[in-house]
Amino acid sequence: MGRPLPLLTDLNRFFWTSGADGQLRFLRCSTCRSWAHPPQPVCRSCGSTELAPETVSGRARVLGWTVNHQPWHPAFAPPYVIAVVGLVEDDGVRLTTNLIDVEADAIGIGMEVEVVFEQDDDVWLPLFRPVGAAQAGATAS
Ligand SMILES: [Zn+2]
Repeated sequence: MGRPLPLLTDLNRFFWTSGADGQLRFLRCSTCRSWAHPPQPVCRSCGSTELAPETVSGRARVLGWTVNHQPWHPAFAPPYVIAVVGLVEDDGVRLTTNLIDVEADAIGIGMEVEVVFEQDDDVWLPLFRPVGAAQAGATAS
């Protein structure tokens, strides 16, 4: 049983398939350099339609999080961590995601995390883990 997957459109396909090469991308306005996420055809800051996907570092900081203990969906075994993270490039660019490889009591606001992609069919879901978790290995409970 897979996760519920986003519906791909011409506008958001680049985002959900970006992880195919391990890179995270967001739309950015080439006129005023504002980021546009979720993907949209027109820049909210200047009205330009000159938006193009741009690669980011994949690093972000935790802005808020919660531990879900309810089995809302069969693909998610509780407990799991739902977090809102903001890109290090611009913390106004936010993703609601899952944090992995971390115990809930080790999470703090401002913690630096990095993207890790989970491929499911033609979608690469961006999940996040603490920076350095790959070197240290997955945290055991
Ligand atoms: Zn703009």
